[in-house]
Amino acid sequence: MKVDILAFGAHPDDVELGCGATLAKEIHLGKKVGIIDLTQGELGTRGSAEIRAQEAAAAAAILGVSARENLGFRDGFFVNDEAHQLEIIKMIRKYKPEVVLCNAIDDRHIDHGKGSKLVSDACFLAGLRRIETAINGVEQEAWRPKLVYHYIQWKNIEPDFVVDVTGFIDQKMQAVLAYATQFYDLNSKEPATPITSKNFLDSIVYRAQDLGRLINTEHAEGFTVERYVAVNRLDDLM
Ligand SMILES: [Zn+2]
Repeated sequence: MKVDILAFGAHPDDVELGCGATLAKEIHLGKKVGIIDLTQGELGTRGSAEIRAQEAAAAAAILGVSARENLGFRDGFFVNDEAHQLEIIKMIRKYKPEVVLCNAIDDRHIDHGKGSKLVSDACFLAGLRRIETAINGVEQEAWRPKLVYHYIQWKNIEPDFVVDVTGFIDQKMQAVLAYATQFYDLNSKEPATPITSKNFLDSIVYRAQDLGRLINTEHAEGFTVERYVAVNRLDDLM
């Protein structure tokens, strides 16, 4: 199955937190979107791998994504090596996205920066035809995404461009809240973490509001690029 946009996250919920509204908008406009989670988030303080898998499926349904897979890498300990790159190359060649979205290049959780570089490196390698991969014995063709962008999650990274997501913030927050074990819940008996505070949940909305303010709209999500943002005409830029 081909998708237009493939979003990768080190943990289930990274994609929703970082670019959920952008994906909701693109899906609304007719694009096909897939999500690949690198780990099951099994080291997370709250919930379990099984519960998080159910939450991830619910969040995917809320956003309307066409496919979601989990690569089962080791939470906290996966590395950027050939074995891990090959698994990501397989996903890129399977779904053939024009655009790949992945974790912030630097963030509080060490898996985010690692996942970011791993996916970015694999996007390049996926285009080299002499790297052979197969799924279920069927050889894959080389495929390189045209664009690789990094969403912003915990740290306030200065974006290189922002997407107007006005009208899609509620859908994003519904998808985020599908991870009921992970975020603010007064009734939870599990230990508190930096992401279980009300402040964290509020920050997702107020960052979108603030980025929206800066481009004169209601809400926006920010991204960074590794290369230049290219446009055909000056007025392609809002
Ligand atoms: Zn994460």
